[in-house]
Amino acid sequence: MSPFAVEGVWAAPGRVNVIGEHTDYNNGFVLPMATPHTARASVGRRADGRLRLASTHAGSESVDVAVADLAPGALSGWAAYPAGVLWALRDAGHDIGGADIHIDSDVPVGAGLSSSAALSCVVALALNDLYELGCSRVELARIAQRVETDFVGVPVGMLDQMASLCCTAGHAFFLDCRDLTGSHVPFDCEGVGLRLLVIDTRAKHALVDGGYADRRASCEEAARLLGVPSLREVDDADAALAALPAGPLRNRVRHVLTENERVLRVVAALRAGDVRGIGPDLTASHASMRDDYTISCAELDTAVDTALAAGALGARLVGGGFGGSVIALTAADRCDAVAEAVEKSFAARGFTAPRFFGAIPSAGARRVD
Ligand code: ADP
Ligand code: MG
Repeated sequence: MSPFAVEGVWAAPGRVNVIGEHTDYNNGFVLPMATPHTARASVGRRADGRLRLASTHAGSESVDVAVADLAPGALSGWAAYPAGVLWALRDAGHDIGGADIHIDSDVPVGAGLSSSAALSCVVALALNDLYELGCSRVELARIAQRVETDFVGVPVGMLDQMASLCCTAGHAFFLDCRDLTGSHVPFDCEGVGLRLLVIDTRAKHALVDGGYADRRASCEEAARLLGVPSLREVDDADAALAALPAGPLRNRVRHVLTENERVLRVVAALRAGDVRGIGPDLTASHASMRDDYTISCAELDTAVDTALAAGALGARLVGGGFGGSVIALTAADRCDAVAEAVEKSFAARGFTAPRFFGAIPSAGARRVD
């Protein structure tokens, strides 16, 4: 391959969801923040209608395709994410020619920090700038979402893409998924002597895909039974729960309704400067996902229980469930002890050794060079 033509470099972060799990596809509230880890894209336009892709990530084959041939199913593996952006932009009527795109990302892949959204969002922003498309961040998030839903074939909500494109440093992003309006909420753990520790349990259970689709279907069925367009339109939570048959469906709805309330409480606490005060709601979110939404697993519960026993102020699984990561809010001087305790209890149970990341609320997608 001839050297890549580079006109600029862009970066887009991964995300950690502070709270608001499985609420995005129910038109509810979420509160993500951007990670310091980013996907960087060195991008140049090409006049010959070809798309050339390369990534420094191990096992990522380089790709050279005609942009006109891009269609869902045409590419599999990692290249589907950047190529899907060109397809989605063209499908939305934008005049995109060829491009050289070189990816270098330090967002851990498959750890629940959304390396996939970082990848599609950085490419969407770069092409928007270079081809002067004039798309808003929300429009770019919709493009990046279509990459996953239509090109790659994963039915994701808008949480990851909005977080990667809209977050700002030092803040979490309070997003209303009903109308995609958001506001930035100060979230300064370091300033008040706290840390947000991400524990990647390295577990990935077979239920990951089917379990997600199954929970989504339950929420849609419950909304139909309750006669509302989505669970967001439930006004009286107690009455709605009483109207549903006792059992898994009612429990799942209870998770969604109470999780929205927890997001609002956490936002209010952060706005009041009370970072410590969010701990119990983080832990309650985990209990709700474990008991009502039933998407936890032994590794996630072990990480949460051990972190709390070692002094964490709150802890919860993040992401889809059945594996992936846990976040734990700890005092700065307890952070290492919490990590060590989790490491030990994983070893004692014969689980794969976990990985740890420090999460500092960082900037959203931007041009860096
Ligand atoms: P997550 O988004 O939680 O990290 P996903 O399964 O949604 O996990 O996305 C991971 C996929 O994204 C990888 O399998 C790969 O196809 C793609 N990907 C992410 N980062 C890179 C990268 N730096 N280079 C190549 N592919 C990447
Ligand atoms: Mg992903």
